[in-house]
Amino acid sequence: MAKVADRYLEVDPWSVVENGFSVERSRVSESIFSLSNEYMGVRGYFDEGYSGERLVGSYLNGVYTEAPIPQPNIYKGVANKTRFMVNTLDWLYTRISIDREQLDFAKCNIKDFMRKLDLKNGTVSREFVWTTSSGKSLKLTFIRFLSMVDSNLGCQRIVLEPVDFSGRVDVQSGLDFTPIHVSEKKNFWECPKKGRENGITAIIGKAEKSGHQVFSGFKLCSDSIADTRLVEEEKYIGLEFSIEVKQGTKASFDKMVVNYADKNSNTDTAKVWESGMNLAGKLTAMSFEDALSKHTAYWTDVWNNLDITIEGDPENQQGIRFCIFQLHQTYHGFDASNNVGAKGLTGEAYSGHTFWDTETYCLPFYIFNNPAAARKLLEYRYKTLPQALDWAKEQDCKGACYPMSTIDGTESCGVWWHGNLEIHVSGAISYGIWHYVKLTGDTEFLYSQGVEMLLQVSRFFASRGNWSPDGKFGFYGVMGPDEFHTFVNNNCYTNVLAKKMFEYTLEVVEEMKKTAPGKFEDVSGRISLDSKELDGWKSMAQSMIIPCDEKTGIYEQHDGYFMLPHLDIHSIPVEEFPLYHHWTLPRIYRYDMIKQPDVLLFMFFFSQDYSMVGKLKNYEYYEPRCIHESSLSPSVHSILAAELGKHDEAYNFFGFATRLDLDNYNRNTGEGLHTTSIAAAWMNIVYGFGGMRTDGGKLIFSPSIPEKWKSFSFRILYNNAVLSVTVDKDNAVFRTISGPSIEAVIFGRGYSIDSNGINIPLPADRKQ
Ligand code: BGC
Repeated sequence: MAKVADRYLEVDPWSVVENGFSVERSRVSESIFSLSNEYMGVRGYFDEGYSGERLVGSYLNGVYTEAPIPQPNIYKGVANKTRFMVNTLDWLYTRISIDREQLDFAKCNIKDFMRKLDLKNGTVSREFVWTTSSGKSLKLTFIRFLSMVDSNLGCQRIVLEPVDFSGRVDVQSGLDFTPIHVSEKKNFWECPKKGRENGITAIIGKAEKSGHQVFSGFKLCSDSIADTRLVEEEKYIGLEFSIEVKQGTKASFDKMVVNYADKNSNTDTAKVWESGMNLAGKLTAMSFEDALSKHTAYWTDVWNNLDITIEGDPENQQGIRFCIFQLHQTYHGFDASNNVGAKGLTGEAYSGHTFWDTETYCLPFYIFNNPAAARKLLEYRYKTLPQALDWAKEQDCKGACYPMSTIDGTESCGVWWHGNLEIHVSGAISYGIWHYVKLTGDTEFLYSQGVEMLLQVSRFFASRGNWSPDGKFGFYGVMGPDEFHTFVNNNCYTNVLAKKMFEYTLEVVEEMKKTAPGKFEDVSGRISLDSKELDGWKSMAQSMIIPCDEKTGIYEQHDGYFMLPHLDIHSIPVEEFPLYHHWTLPRIYRYDMIKQPDVLLFMFFFSQDYSMVGKLKNYEYYEPRCIHESSLSPSVHSILAAELGKHDEAYNFFGFATRLDLDNYNRNTGEGLHTTSIAAAWMNIVYGFGGMRTDGGKLIFSPSIPEKWKSFSFRILYNNAVLSVTVDKDNAVFRTISGPSIEAVIFGRGYSIDSNGINIPLPADRKQ
């Protein structure tokens, strides 16, 4: 891979530390030091303002606005407007001055800068010494966190410690709705109400087009503040005050902020104000310390259940904890109307949109750590089924066509060859249902919501596919996960997925007819299901075209792929990445070079259907053709490489996944974190080195250990039991920490694992 690390952060097992401020890396650090709690997210931008380049990214999950897609609106079925996550208010807004000089990293004399993300308690802190032009030195410490317990609450503490003077520091602390959405170069807010009531200073912003309203209110707590003066502007409200500081003595103030979003465009502003004020009154009554101790206890519990340890590899130890932290803070099932955006809540890139990444890459993390959250992710798709039904109609099809990228269930991808051709996205929803139900046995969900989605996706596939003259069924004019080949016929991944999901849907129908006939009648009546449709899906599945060269056993990514000109991807100079910026699309699309795994992906999803020899042949054929232009790509290669005993390759691909953002491998972390790829890093440990497979009837394990590591361990929640797996150079130890015993197949043999644990020697070919 032509991608190299750009390391500048300290390596530490439980924190991410930046020593010394770098203007060039400022945007990257803003992303890395992002915090979120699913309800809201905030980039690591400076509270006190900064006149250099920055992205004041502060988001509330699902709060969006809308803009037209600039293209001639003459083609049917192509999205003509996009809904995107809108930058909300800067609730950390602070301005600090001494002798009328305002603190600003771009202009002031700053030294001893240190910024830290503490993974154990989910706080970001920053400290430095500012020397004013009048010669006064002030040490400042900023601490912030977004409560994981009270999700509307954001807390900020600022500590002032004069090094060599006593005197006055002037401060303004407020709520600012003026930040612009940087990519749109526009501010989308009007502020219909602001004011101060019962010690809470508050403002409401209303987003253009969507009418979403955001209430924000704060209270300042400090012994050092005597008087405050209210400052109001069109889109701002704040308090001005002075603090008399004494040399060598710390003074501090805490800002307790409550943010509350109302996503119903019809709600009266007075009602939003009332709800926001009630919430603010309750939550700001808590002290910073109390809120922090609740928040810390939450994270302690998370780490007790979710931690992954790696002995002998500090870089990847830090990397994997960073991944778990980001994933968990981005989404933990707080609300089924939230989902996981490709960049989480950490930047504007990908517009806050959710992709098929959720069901294929993120869902396993939740199934094995927080099954209730996994269910909520699928419920999100059920809630947005009406939009998928409408979108299928727009596509001249039946059933449910799920969007390529969305913030509210509607298609927001205006690039037609993605939005209209990547029909595998709907298959991913069915795949997610299949995977979740297989592992949790949640038939309550399946029979009430899952089945309806399965049936509607099958309908969509049936209407989108075609019969060939020789009586075979397939999909024409599609794009698979590999986005370097567009408008292809019979993308192997899409066809395999559709076949499997037709089969699964029919299986669920049969099962429900026997075990829950009433519920089946309910759903089939509701959607006017005709038994002829079921017969049709059966023959479509049976006749599905699966392109494969019978002689070599290599699956052909799509019709005609084998005859494409070959390109030696290693001949591409490093400076030409990312390719989208340096090569025209026709130049990228006309070779056998692929962007991300396609055939290899279905061989991983349905691992038990393929032999080791088959996987090896396909891996060796496709891996040299893949340039990993999608950050989702290396992990899947790592997982397969580990299975195939290609330990070096497995390790190299893995490092890329865990440290993708910490080391800015793709040189675009400044735009936001690669949140869904972060989920793939978790899969790398559990499915890759842990060798877990979950597509059979039982859990399957075949662990291996990279040469560099002394040991590694992980935990999963399965069937109400917590299973701990520890692998060292000689043994793999499986033990339940709580709950009933677990049946699993380890290196091909069946075991029942309980709290006594079992110790299984690692075969020679599973270590280096
Ligand atoms: C990938 C897609 C993915 C999207 C969001 C693209 O670069 O090719 O597969 O869904 O990023 O992560």
